[in-house]
Amino acid sequence: MKVLEIIQKSAAFLERKGVESPRLQSELILAHVLGLPRLQLYLNFERPVPEAQEEKARELVRRRGTREPLQHLIGSASFWGLEMLVNRDVLIPRPETELLGERARDFLRTWPGDTPRILDFGTGSGCLAIWLASQFPTARILAIDISPVALAVAAQNARRHGVGDRIEFCQHDGLPAPGEPCALVVSNPPYIPSAEIATLEPEVRDHDPRAALDGGPDGLDHYRHLALAAPAWLAPGGRMMLEFGDGQAAAITGLLHFQKWIVEPPIPDYSGRERILAAGR
Ligand code: GLN
Repeated sequence: MKVLEIIQKSAAFLERKGVESPRLQSELILAHVLGLPRLQLYLNFERPVPEAQEEKARELVRRRGTREPLQHLIGSASFWGLEMLVNRDVLIPRPETELLGERARDFLRTWPGDTPRILDFGTGSGCLAIWLASQFPTARILAIDISPVALAVAAQNARRHGVGDRIEFCQHDGLPAPGEPCALVVSNPPYIPSAEIATLEPEVRDHDPRAALDGGPDGLDHYRHLALAAPAWLAPGGRMMLEFGDGQAAAITGLLHFQKWIVEPPIPDYSGRERILAAGR
């Protein structure tokens, strides 16, 4: 078959399977298989695709049709242009989290010392820790996760981006006993209320690690923990910056106030939903 035919057939199939943006997804899969940037497909619509590659594309489209995330099929996700290895052991980095990274960067630029210490709570793929390390070449980062297999992925990503020597990976349930104080505590913790996980899209529900999603009965378990335990990790003038889910801003602001944090107004994401809170002491 030719490039365009494969795209059209794949898109029709994915549409029947309820996959969002079926045409785009088909193009991304075929581009991956052919080893081309997606837009190059447009210059090659009439090109016949060799049988082995057609077969490979068909297999990936079939798996996408079972709602396996595209990032798992191609084995990576992009975070501010950095390729992060991903698999079932880590949450796929989301575009909203890039915004958290950007806000964290803006804050760190105002930090007086030249080797800021950063704590990334629930590092998952390591995207935040690694991107911040790449932005601040002298920063030292403590990246914590409860999952040893996630930490293995994160460490691999850190090496791949040449920042492995400045990130310490630590397996821990919650924050460990306080160590060297940090300019920034950053986290995109699991925040889905346990009972809502069953209602999520199959790509998320069946393929992101449950531990990376489940925030306890009301989704706020990790914020409560951070509100209580993070002050001991924060250097004077430091900030905690947190991502959270739709509709959680008021509750999280409340529980931070309860632990005597000074909380800034919530920052909206690209679709206008409140998404990030910054707080200090
Ligand atoms: N910090 C990682 C991310 O933002 C993982 C978050 C998580 O597993 N909840 O993608």
